[in-house]
Amino acid sequence: MLTESILKADGAISRTLIDAGDYFIGVVKAGQTLRILDLEGNQAADTLFYSATDPSERYSAMDTIREQGNVYLTTGSVLRSNENTPMLEIVADTCGRHDTLGGACATESNTVRYDLEKRCMHACRDSWMLAIAENPEYGISKRDISHNINFFMNVPVTEAGGLTFEDGISAPGKYVELKALMDVVVLISNCPQLNNPCNGYNPTPVELLVWE
Ligand SMILES: [Zn+2]
Repeated sequence: MLTESILKADGAISRTLIDAGDYFIGVVKAGQTLRILDLEGNQAADTLFYSATDPSERYSAMDTIREQGNVYLTTGSVLRSNENTPMLEIVADTCGRHDTLGGACATESNTVRYDLEKRCMHACRDSWMLAIAENPEYGISKRDISHNINFFMNVPVTEAGGLTFEDGISAPGKYVELKALMDVVVLISNCPQLNNPCNGYNPTPVELLVWE
């Protein structure tokens, strides 16, 4: 559902640019609001959430989908943990639909989907691994890297139940906004993928804004 925010950018307590192919890791506290802004359009922000007090509690696609009875994420979606606890709620969305079925790109899947020579290309899983290696204070290990959300990515489910990666429905300036319901660690790979239309074959920066 398309919903605009009432929050003004100049009231944000932090603004962070994530370059194409780069990562972000940081804490958003309960009650704070996080906006992910698609600056140039058709980008994919591959995102994981963890409980800030115990990273073994993390975002769960299956708990989220089951409880809301819908495979797409948009305004009103409550993102749940693997303990079925509400972690964040999407409170505004000017894109209209976000994917949590397609998974993140990895060098292995690039090889299988596209070509053996794609193996050396930068992928979201690499960015996540770099993030947790460079920021050990969050206590997140390789085994905590699990199913994710692809904000702004368009993966419609066909009538037969198939998944397809389609051209994005996002555009410059579109955003999604989430209110944290617990203290969460946010881990985002700003997708560097060049082989499918999830980011228009042209990775671009996204911006994160946080309000108290
Ligand atoms: Zn990716």
